[in-house]
Amino acid sequence: MEKIDIKSMLPEELSSFLAELGQPKFRAGQIFKWLHLGVKDFDEMTDIPIALRNILREKTYIAGVEIARRLVSKIDGTVKYLYRLCDGEYIESVLMKYEHGYTVCISTQVGCRMGCSFCASGLNGLKRNLTASEMLSQLTEAQRDNGIRVSNVVMMGMGEPLDNFDNSIRFLKLVSNEKGMNIGLRHISLSTSGVVSGIKRLKEYNFPITLSISLHAPFDDMRSSIMRVNKKWNIKELLDACKEYQKQTTRRISFEYALIESVNNSNECAERLSEILKGIMCHINLIPANPVKENSFKKPDRNKILHFQKLLISKGLNATVRRTLGADIEASCGQLRRQESEGIKNADIQ
Ligand code: SAH
Ligand code: SF4
Repeated sequence: MEKIDIKSMLPEELSSFLAELGQPKFRAGQIFKWLHLGVKDFDEMTDIPIALRNILREKTYIAGVEIARRLVSKIDGTVKYLYRLCDGEYIESVLMKYEHGYTVCISTQVGCRMGCSFCASGLNGLKRNLTASEMLSQLTEAQRDNGIRVSNVVMMGMGEPLDNFDNSIRFLKLVSNEKGMNIGLRHISLSTSGVVSGIKRLKEYNFPITLSISLHAPFDDMRSSIMRVNKKWNIKELLDACKEYQKQTTRRISFEYALIESVNNSNECAERLSEILKGIMCHINLIPANPVKENSFKKPDRNKILHFQKLLISKGLNATVRRTLGADIEASCGQLRRQESEGIKNADIQ
């Protein structure tokens, strides 16, 4: 019999599972609380009778993550984790400290099948989806490892959350549950490369999360050349879906724009960007492209980045340049996992 992934269970599912086992109702609440505190073994559930712990161990498992590598920035304390999953796969997570608290950037898949040309996560395609419990465990492990409480989450690590739709929704329900981690949905961002079918489905949930769109280019031919997903859903279809999404949720949308030298940083790009985003209440996040060993993309120099930002602002757009955190441990998303699979080790491991 296959064991049940107990940490992915919603409270009502856990209740009916325990009722089937003939357990009193209050046990579900106790177990839920322990799981979301990040226990790794049923024996840590000290208020649960040993007999029940044994039954749970027999029928279920706690999907955790193990720290395989931990890189700490000497500049700002940012911690980059390489986590090993129970089947030996690796994923990455980043813990960042801001004035308002701790933010964790989580992965949603092992690898990614979207194949954006500037990104290291998708170089070897998709290995598998993460379960909701594996997404949660990236947070509970960061909390335990640092003795802190995480207040914000960004689903911007490895993987395309809307390509793992059901588990991402389940994660959002679990992480915001007041008996669990209780992180408000307003403190969570979900980033997508532009999976329009997923944006349409997500809209129906009316979650007050921040939807982040990885736009990266304002012209279809340019966007299709760096992001395959644009061949399936072009910019117009994507922005129409964003408008519908905004109409329903009334939430401001965030657009990510990775600036790549001589690819998408011309004046013409800034002008076109301001035209296509007209009518959408939004914020533009300019990200200096991270170099990836496997491609030749470079970020523009600082002056050019500021010039691009200025152009957008002069057109009435709200644009900021993303602060670089952990510059000394800069390994673009997906690169640590690649290093691990290629056997490359970094000197700065703690
Ligand atoms: N798959 C989702 C979320 C994960 S990627 C998405 O694409 O939105 C998170 C963000 O990192 C995206 O905006 C992505 O475009 C960006 N990104 C990926 N590789 C990058 C690189 N080398 N430099 C800068 N940004 C990058
Ligand atoms: Fe996947 Fe996002 Fe990387 Fe594109 S940028 S390959 S969607 S993780």
